[in-house]
Amino acid sequence: MQVFNFSAGPSALPDAVLEIAKEDLKSWGVTGSSIMEISHRSSTFTRMANRSVENLRTLLQIPSNYKILFMQGGATGQFSTIPLNLLQGKSNADYINTGIWSLKAIEEADRYCKVNIAADGSESDFEKIPDQEHWKLNPESAYVHYTSNETVNGIEYHWTPETGDVPLVADMSSQLLSRPVDVSKYGLIYASTQKNIGVSGITLVIIRDDLIGHAQKETPGFLDYQNISDSDSIYNTPPTLAWYLTNLVFEWMIQQGGVQEMEKINIIKAQKLYDVIDQSDFYKNNIDPSCRSRMNIPFTVGASDLDTQFLEDASKRKLIHLNGFRSAGGMRASLYNAVTENAVDELVTFMKDFEKNYG
Ligand SMILES: *Cc1c(COP(=O)(O)O)cnc(C)c1O
Repeated sequence: MQVFNFSAGPSALPDAVLEIAKEDLKSWGVTGSSIMEISHRSSTFTRMANRSVENLRTLLQIPSNYKILFMQGGATGQFSTIPLNLLQGKSNADYINTGIWSLKAIEEADRYCKVNIAADGSESDFEKIPDQEHWKLNPESAYVHYTSNETVNGIEYHWTPETGDVPLVADMSSQLLSRPVDVSKYGLIYASTQKNIGVSGITLVIIRDDLIGHAQKETPGFLDYQNISDSDSIYNTPPTLAWYLTNLVFEWMIQQGGVQEMEKINIIKAQKLYDVIDQSDFYKNNIDPSCRSRMNIPFTVGASDLDTQFLEDASKRKLIHLNGFRSAGGMRASLYNAVTENAVDELVTFMKDFEKNYG
């Protein structure tokens, strides 16, 4: 590794994955050509595609009554694809507002249905997830949508909402595969892959099969879950290179011991960073400890504006992409699966040194 990359997305890939990709780029397996240069309908590609579905099923122990779809359009595409497919004639959907990404999902859903904001984190400046006992869920809603990890705000659910018979829908773009998840509690889980899983271009959708086949009539064909499911996600030309890279990451994770092992390391990494922040008066993270994110850790530096200095000094130590989201400011370290414990150790050492110099 040349640098320690804390980018929020697209983000670091495991070194081992990049090495394999480099080898395969010119000539992949028996094909003699690269993955980019063969048909998505060739048996070589479809074998890889089928294996990737099995790999994800293995990683998350996904029950057999769930379908795994590889779609395009990013998580943002799902913001409209979900109401188009899941409203099933109903006019209401529940949304939990915990930050920037849930707000974007709400804005988009608002085009298609009456959005009931069943719980609103803005009342606590997005520093805390509202307790489920205060949620005002509408039993007539078609589904309940929440964002399991707010990538910008740095808030993560460490529990699963209970919604009874109403399907639970989760945007797990910056959380999926960082920890185990009980898929059977969900109607639908989605994630774009450029955060914790691979590169941009693929959106994973894990959907309970009874929720497929109810798209509104005017739904574009390529956004109808039925079409994607029936075609094993090869309805039209998929981003073949991105799909292949996603599968390499799945295989890397399985070799590493799966999501259980990922979670163990992710807990240690996040704890190391939160410890430095909490043990100083110089660094601050205001998120309630019960819902601090393991994946995205925003923090501020010093009393005055030392942001630029921090970023400059950090890059001299090869610690890069630590700037916060454009509207949020401050710093943010994203500690996805591919970010090693060693990278976090380097960051923590740097932060202590920086505080000594400027604190
Ligand atoms: C990045 C992100 C998105 C947007 O993903 P795109 O692939 O850019 O559409 C949505 N939700 C969350 C939680 C994210 O982190």
